Amino acid sequence: MTAYVLGHKIPDSDSICSALSLAYLKNAIGEQAIAVRQGELNPETAYILDKFGLEAPLLKTSFAGESVYIVDHSDRAQSPDDLSEATVLGIVDHHKLGDITTAAPLECWIRPVGCTNTIIKEMFDYYAVEIPKSIAGIMMSAILSDTVIFKSPTCTELDINAVEVLAVIAGIDDHKAYGLEMFKVKSSVEGTPVRELVLRDFKDFEMNGKRVGIGQLETVDLSVFDNLKDALQADIAALKQEGGRHSVCLLLTDIMQEGSELLVVGDDLALIEKAFDTSITAGKTWLDGVLSRKKQVVPPLEKAFA
Ligand code: MG
Ligand code: MG
Ligand code: MG
Repeated sequence: MTAYVLGHKIPDSDSICSALSLAYLKNAIGEQAIAVRQGELNPETAYILDKFGLEAPLLKTSFAGESVYIVDHSDRAQSPDDLSEATVLGIVDHHKLGDITTAAPLECWIRPVGCTNTIIKEMFDYYAVEIPKSIAGIMMSAILSDTVIFKSPTCTELDINAVEVLAVIAGIDDHKAYGLEMFKVKSSVEGTPVRELVLRDFKDFEMNGKRVGIGQLETVDLSVFDNLKDALQADIAALKQEGGRHSVCLLLTDIMQEGSELLVVGDDLALIEKAFDTSITAGKTWLDGVLSRKKQVVPPLEKAFA
């Protein structure tokens, strides 16, 4: 039986590239697997796939009666709505353990590293499967993206080593320069509808029974948002209402300055101020050194909501 390999809703580069790389590995070891995606590609991911000559995975959002491998998440809020009617064969992930449960034993590869593709690189080594050039290229790109070119506090030695090996296979001489090119593509906001920007990399979390949405836009220069900030703030306020959310945060991350401007709307902003030990003025605050939603934003918020 063919299994589908799928990343989280509103897929980022890691969710798309890890679905492709894990599906390739599964087929190479004699299992039938097809990579799929739960949403549209963001511009960075489109750039990566184009650069290494790969097609986007099929769009598929319903999995009742199917077998699946989950990559790059283990939270039900980020999974397909009918996941409980599917058989989860395995999870490969680098986030906090979420609330996906299974009726039968499953294969689990979960590590505190910077990117799912770093774990999949270890899986290729474990099964002694050679990584083709195109797959190496997208795996390397996903690691550079998730670790913000090694600047994120989530980055580990394993991530750096994986990129160095994959870059050689992919034929990329200067992987940091390539990473910067990728982030320039990611930074382009011109002509993009505001809602699309807010949802470009957006995740919902359940925090003590409250729904908290957290979006992140990574850029090489925060000034691209100068004329957009008011519209972004209005839109996250609308999104809060529409989704019955307690709070919506939008991180405008400057990877060169190494920090994030937090735009926030919420039912209790004192909670958010407490989480980050900051004061919010006109729905905004600067969080110095904050690059990682996973490691620097979600844990303090969960603590504050507890
Ligand atoms: Mg992801
Ligand atoms: Mg990831
Ligand atoms: Mg990310």
